[in-house]
Amino acid sequence: RTVYVNGEYLPETEAKVSIFDRGFLMADGVYEVTTVLDGKLIDFDGHATRLARSLSELEMKEPVTKEELLSIHRKLVEENGVDEGLVYLQVTRGAADRDFAYPKDAEPTLVLFTQKKNAVNSPAAKTGISVISIPDIRWGRRDIKTVQLLYPSMGKMAAKAAGADDAWMVEDGFVTEGTSNNAYIVKDGVIITRNLSTHILHGITRAAVLRFAEVAQMKIEERPFTIEEAQNADEAFITSATSFVQPVVKIDDKAVGTGTVGPVASRLREIYLEESRKAAI
Ligand code: PLP
Repeated sequence: RTVYVNGEYLPETEAKVSIFDRGFLMADGVYEVTTVLDGKLIDFDGHATRLARSLSELEMKEPVTKEELLSIHRKLVEENGVDEGLVYLQVTRGAADRDFAYPKDAEPTLVLFTQKKNAVNSPAAKTGISVISIPDIRWGRRDIKTVQLLYPSMGKMAAKAAGADDAWMVEDGFVTEGTSNNAYIVKDGVIITRNLSTHILHGITRAAVLRFAEVAQMKIEERPFTIEEAQNADEAFITSATSFVQPVVKIDDKAVGTGTVGPVASRLREIYLEESRKAAI
């Protein structure tokens, strides 16, 4: 694979980042994952805009312009022959002597690579997934997409150990989000998902799905919900750039609705795939 590191396109075995990089030492970095379908980027603009916001919240420089970022994405997709998969992008504050204070003169490290992956025909879209609930003990700025992913990793491992697929995190009695996705329930035809705040990541797929749902004249309520409410809902699902819309059929061993994939999640997945493919660049 060809990867990108600070202005250079290199074979992955030759790409290097300093051991003093603050991304490595302090998780002082942010990232984005953009899906590729038919060799084109889904929602590139949304991801680039959220990246700029993450960087600005952490007082980090934008390493390249949005236009340059797009051409790097496109070049990697083409060089690596990615028809379906993803582009991973990471920006860290760069390399400097270890110090908690931000260094004044560090240059940001920009790294991008691609991964091929079958996302559209994922078996989970047909069968639905199961989730467990775990406490949300992450930091308080989940709206910034940082590379501090240890707790979400632990959550995923806890889910696997329990024979489930993922974990929904709960704070003050309410679901925040999944380990790497936003969480939704459907009750009496109303789509319910937690309102945006610093408690959750502002999913790019969330924004798109809610937009499409609105166009399709589906009812939406943006508010927190509990695990109990979710277990008693008609349907549940998650969204993320790499899973699109994926039905959730079991929560903490209790079936949601009929325990099978519901019509709202299926329809939203179809609309999402169709519309975002049309708008891909
Ligand atoms: N919430 C968390 C914690 C995530 O890590 C992600 C994606 O990685 C999402 C939500 C979904 O965001 P997006 O739709 O932009 O992929």
